Amino acid sequence: MHVRTGQAGVSRSGMVAVVAVVALAVLLVLFGRQEAPPEEVRPDAAVPAAPPAPTAGMVDEARVARVGTDEPGAWLTYGRTYEEQRFSPLTQVNRENAGDLGLVWYKDFGTLHPVESTPLVVDGVMYAILPWNITYALDAATGEELWSYDPEVPGETARRACCGVISRGLAVYRGRVYVATLDGRLIALDAATGTPVWEVDTVIDHTRNYTITGAPRAAAGKVFIGNGGAEFGVRGYVTAYDADTGEQAWRFFTVPGDPSLPFEHPEMEMAAETWKGGEWWDIGGGGTVWNSIVYDPDFHTVYLGVGNGSPWTRVIRSPGGGDNLFLAAIVAVDADTGVMKWYYQTTPGDNWDYTAVQDMTLADLEVDGVMRKVLMQAPKNGFFYVIDRSDGTLLRAHPYGTVTWATHVDLDTGRPVENTDVAYDENPQWIHPGALGAHNWQAMSWDGERGVMYLTTHDTPFLFAMPEEYEKTGVYKRREGMINVGIEYGRINQLIEAWDEPPLPEGYTVAFDPLSGDTVWAVRQEHPWNGGVVATAAGLLFQGDAMGKVSARSTDDGSLLWQADTWTSIVGPTITYEVDGTQYVATMTGAGSINTTGAATYTYGSHARVVVYALGGDAELPMPPERDTTIKEQPPLTASADDLDRGDILYHELCSPCHGIGVLSSGGIPDLRFMTPEIHATFEAIVLGGTLNDNGMASFADVLDVEDTARIQQYVISRANRDREQELAGDAEDAG
Ligand code: CA
Repeated sequence: MHVRTGQAGVSRSGMVAVVAVVALAVLLVLFGRQEAPPEEVRPDAAVPAAPPAPTAGMVDEARVARVGTDEPGAWLTYGRTYEEQRFSPLTQVNRENAGDLGLVWYKDFGTLHPVESTPLVVDGVMYAILPWNITYALDAATGEELWSYDPEVPGETARRACCGVISRGLAVYRGRVYVATLDGRLIALDAATGTPVWEVDTVIDHTRNYTITGAPRAAAGKVFIGNGGAEFGVRGYVTAYDADTGEQAWRFFTVPGDPSLPFEHPEMEMAAETWKGGEWWDIGGGGTVWNSIVYDPDFHTVYLGVGNGSPWTRVIRSPGGGDNLFLAAIVAVDADTGVMKWYYQTTPGDNWDYTAVQDMTLADLEVDGVMRKVLMQAPKNGFFYVIDRSDGTLLRAHPYGTVTWATHVDLDTGRPVENTDVAYDENPQWIHPGALGAHNWQAMSWDGERGVMYLTTHDTPFLFAMPEEYEKTGVYKRREGMINVGIEYGRINQLIEAWDEPPLPEGYTVAFDPLSGDTVWAVRQEHPWNGGVVATAAGLLFQGDAMGKVSARSTDDGSLLWQADTWTSIVGPTITYEVDGTQYVATMTGAGSINTTGAATYTYGSHARVVVYALGGDAELPMPPERDTTIKEQPPLTASADDLDRGDILYHELCSPCHGIGVLSSGGIPDLRFMTPEIHATFEAIVLGGTLNDNGMASFADVLDVEDTARIQQYVISRANRDREQELAGDAEDAG
């Protein structure tokens, strides 16, 4: 079982004191009483009356604008600059000397949970956010810890998140570090000390599974943050807060709510006309903005990348048809007011979990002889969009991976032409891209000189099938505390195993020309699920991968120039920065919320670390011991076939999002086939009693009883037995 890090940072006692004193002050104001402070407030606690004037992390619009010329070694925002091109001007490491790269420092954060975040580097300080939103300030040249902050996210929040207790990053702005927590809080920390300055709750309804995994963005005096949860059933929105005070500036909902209630803003009235029939507001509607929010200084605009429908299936969500705005769209809003300027919908009437939340890159680009200010995105649906950001006009939409759901995008109408051959309302269909997308949140890097985007892509088709309940009754009801995707999820493994030859997933690193649609080069990866990339002016492309390797490739052809082993799968983006004349290459390791069989994490476990390389580095990364992945003898299998079938369905509806489809998990989230007899003996206490709540394994007593819990355990035993028999047969064959 995975272990949660919980070491107290230097700031925790400070935070407790701040919260206690603020609470006391509120009491005094409310009741005017002059009582002695409660015992937990130490009289000597040094708490300033007002937040200290910022002394570190002094990032603002002017500094970000100059970073390309004045500070080539800094990484000031999520995508390095507001344009989020993730292209580094640094050239100290080049094609001739890349082979001399070596480890200079690393820090182990002591958690097995996956890491997807982009660290920032400001004035020689690395700000990094880890699982459970534990935040660190490190000396970027040595790794020395300057401060850490633990927002103490409750363990049960993990069950409300589809895909792990991760965060993709943070923001540094005007002396503050902005941390958005899995349980929906936005917290401003003093960048110099990590002490909280203000905290707000961004969640409009705590009965729904709202979580935040995306990085907040800060600009124009505000902090912008969205959320996730569309797989469980929520309504998406983005909120802007005053960066200094935390006061709400505006909120933009992405889908209409209950039609019996007033529209929150005029855009909702317009959007509501594109939703027809059904009771989408009860399930939530979806449209969560869980990753990409980009500020455009050229137009003082904020672009919101909007997610999939909730539920996924449009016939359930909006049976009368309609585009279902603003699902799977890029929405441009005014940075000061949140009023919409334009939108472009990538997947009208989304039916496949085709989020348009993937990273957006801004650039000036000559298109058909005209210089344009463009926005580029490779959303899940497999088309690479080039959009004029002055008005949202579609300029290009070439496929960048295998696409079967649509034949093409019609540039005249701006709409995709769906392929009716793979409609799944009658029969299950393998569809490209699958729900993981042809590209997901993994960072891209834009090479403006060449007009090429480097990105990691994957052909991971998914078997879409209508839910059995809906097929039988014509009704699909939201289920409290469970995923509500509106496709058949309980029988997903049965459907896949019934297929003769299920398609195998593949992963690539590619250089893609968004104007011509040409793949300039592509490197096939060993595993489909790899980390984000960064290119440099020296013609290098850095990337971490599922096999645990950090690589430098030539941007000419993808040829490999250098590689180091970290023995832990990498899904986070690599960055490069400079401190005191030395160029560093840094990546965060740790993966494991999806099946990583065959990847480094499966063999060695998941180790959340930041690893930092430079020319001539000679530090050594400890190689973890190999995990024991033999399946042990299981407790007795006593369940009837019917009970095993029920256990299979419940496992896939409730457990598979973390522990893996078919009980094939990873080194990060435990693979239940490897449970020891001791853990089997406490299975009910874990699942119903919540004994591992602090690790993120919350109680499921609200949706499971003792009998169903036993059925799930029996199903897991049956899966383990099957693989154990195969292993033993394989061993016998080897011996024979
Ligand atoms: Ca989704």
